[in-house]
Amino acid sequence: MSICVVGHSNPDTDSVAAAISYANYLKAQGQDAVACMQISAENLNPESKMLLARFNLAAPEQISDAEGKKVALVDFSDIAQAPANVMKSEIVAIVDHHKIGDITTNNPIYFNAQPVGCTCTVLNEMYKNSGIALPKDIAGIMLAAILSDTVNFKSPTCTDADKAACADLVKVAGVADMEALFMDMLKAKSSVDGIPAKDLLFRDYKDFDMKGNKVGVGQLELATLDQVAAIRDALYAEMEKVKAEGRHTVLLMLTDVVKEGTDLMVLSDDASLIEKAFGTTLSGNSMWIDGMMSRKKQTIPNLQKAFGC
Ligand code: MG
Ligand code: MG
Ligand code: MG
Repeated sequence: MSICVVGHSNPDTDSVAAAISYANYLKAQGQDAVACMQISAENLNPESKMLLARFNLAAPEQISDAEGKKVALVDFSDIAQAPANVMKSEIVAIVDHHKIGDITTNNPIYFNAQPVGCTCTVLNEMYKNSGIALPKDIAGIMLAAILSDTVNFKSPTCTDADKAACADLVKVAGVADMEALFMDMLKAKSSVDGIPAKDLLFRDYKDFDMKGNKVGVGQLELATLDQVAAIRDALYAEMEKVKAEGRHTVLLMLTDVVKEGTDLMVLSDDASLIEKAFGTTLSGNSMWIDGMMSRKKQTIPNLQKAFGC
């Protein structure tokens, strides 16, 4: 049975690139592996779509139910972010860069999680250590994944290991201008033209449990906040619908990647708790938080503290 290598639900470029990269790695080791993702190719985010086309790579195959399958997980280890019935699958490996989640296994597995900015940084090290040749195009999308996850090295999640991996990968991929690649990604990723507000809210969205309260946090990375000026009301209306499904709080991070800060849209049963979490005051339904780039390292820890987690 082939191993389905799959990233988290609502895949980002790291989940796509890591699935492709690790499937190739396993195949080079003589195993039968296939890159998978939890959505269909047409529903993939615009940044990853652009990158697959640029590096001539096929989109990972769709997997929705893991029951009875062999799976390797990349870029996550939480049941909530896995394909359905993941605990009825045989998990054979996990490669990640997040906190260890709630997946458990019956057997010892290959587990490699490191506190770096991107799963592809971990994978680059695995290729180097094993001497497996990294194909040019896979190196290209791995490079792009690191630039994406670390927001061009500006995110506080970025480490020296991520920068060193990019220095390796840029050579293997033959990418002439890393900055130009990032700007192309930013343009593709931040394009909001003609995209329904609901799809924008869910472009990079995760639910969290905060002391029994369901808290949803979406993030839109933008080249400028002007891109969403005309659709703020529509975004807020979609946040209201999502909140009405039983959430305590729904937040949307409008992150200005160039100015390096986030305008945080807030809809909450307790807005003052959210203000307290970030030490600032709402103006209308949002607040500017200078320097906030990372949901994982900045938004979530502050919320957890405020909720008393
Ligand atoms: Mg990810
Ligand atoms: Mg990642
Ligand atoms: Mg990410």
